[in-house]
Amino acid sequence: MLRRIDLRGLASSPDYRTLVPRADFDVESALHVVRPICDDVRDRGVEAILEYSAKFDGVQNTEIAVPREKLRTALAELDPAVRAGLEESIRRLRATCEAELENDVVTDLGPGARVTQRMVPVDRVGLYVPGGVAPLVSSVVMNVVPAQVAGVGSIALTSSPQKDFGGLPHPTVLAACELLGIEEVYAVGGAQAIAMLAYGAGPCRKVDLVTGPGNIYTVSAKRLLKGVVGIDSEAGPTEIAILADDTADAAYVAADLISQAEHDPMAASVLVTDSLRLADEVDAELDKQVAVTRHVERIRTALAGEQSGIVLVDDVEQGLDVVNAYAAEHLEIHTADAAGVAGRVRNAGAVFVGAFAPVSLGDYCAGSNHVLPTAGCACHSSGLSVRAFLKAVHVIEYSAEALAEVADHVMTLADAEDLPGHGAAVRVRIELFETVAAQP
Ligand code: NAD
Repeated sequence: MLRRIDLRGLASSPDYRTLVPRADFDVESALHVVRPICDDVRDRGVEAILEYSAKFDGVQNTEIAVPREKLRTALAELDPAVRAGLEESIRRLRATCEAELENDVVTDLGPGARVTQRMVPVDRVGLYVPGGVAPLVSSVVMNVVPAQVAGVGSIALTSSPQKDFGGLPHPTVLAACELLGIEEVYAVGGAQAIAMLAYGAGPCRKVDLVTGPGNIYTVSAKRLLKGVVGIDSEAGPTEIAILADDTADAAYVAADLISQAEHDPMAASVLVTDSLRLADEVDAELDKQVAVTRHVERIRTALAGEQSGIVLVDDVEQGLDVVNAYAAEHLEIHTADAAGVAGRVRNAGAVFVGAFAPVSLGDYCAGSNHVLPTAGCACHSSGLSVRAFLKAVHVIEYSAEALAEVADHVMTLADAEDLPGHGAAVRVRIELFETVAAQP
């Protein structure tokens, strides 16, 4: 079911990045689709949004904002078991976010010379919750909780309108918003939603930062509008890589590969192993397990895609090099010394250690965040966290004496850059200070 890429004997290969499985249609290729949508929303606002909702989501909406009473009704009608699950998910993630909240850092560089790093929440954020394939209520939690813990003052949330629910986002998504006290909710999905948040449209004021996961169009719009608005990371179609040796359980490995393939026909499921036996057993398990899952077609398409496969390596050492080059969104380690191997992973959105930490746990209730960088972006970006909603602002306080202490260096460096005005701005103060200091 999974294609095989044999890297055995290639341990000295300089660049595994070109050898690991990747999708043909990537964020860059989707830019030509989303650019006209984003331009149109910028120019025509709500009118354009409603047309795209009709075209892509099959709804005939006349407004984009979700009325407050719909949120209250959705929570009142929420299945109590789902509510309990959401509350546990919120409790665990909130605990992690509170522990990770960074304090201001004060550095004294000498008498009267102080630099303070102040952590300041972003004023207004737009949170994206996927709703095209499945209503990802868990993404409401993953977006909202860190934003709230960071102290963001104004939060807008948007998710695709659903044909079957009167053009509103899925009721479970609305219920989760109400549970978390989010009042500004929009029924808009995809690239048009990102453009609405970035430029502002109708009742939705422009935001400063957009966060959240999405499909290839949503994430491509985030890349396009980065700069017009801040973004967290490019959290696109899901990926799971599993680094496993002969000790791994093929049934667990296959189940986890399937669990992420279930998200999207474009999802990537990659096994990296030095065990041919495991590779064969996982293939057999996939045949068995896929046949009895609900979303068989979606999963088969994802597993058969260019982006998925089994990568054969000589040993775990080479496997580590491969997974570091791949920089998966989710990386599971199923090896004899899973914790030791995990400690040597440099590039991954999140690392799941051993047989009892499947990605599904992280999708809902691990206490970690499931909004994670994809398509290799984990080599430079982090998953969503409370930090993503904070800006670090340096506050510089120097007395006259402290400025005098370093003035010569500043003036010399200004001269070295041929920027005499910079030096003069210091000299004028020092001369004045020296005159005052010289007075009896
Ligand atoms: P989505 O909500 O981002 O996209 C749905 C929207 O896509 C629709 O509302 C529609 O407007 C738009 N759309 C559909 N077809 C289009 C087309 N041909 N052209 C332009 N726009 C179009 O996402 P989804 O479809 O529900 O899928 C969820 C995605 O989120 C999956 O890919 C999943 O793997 C991913 N995900 C990623 C993470 C992460 O952290 N990386 C986490 C969870 C989910």
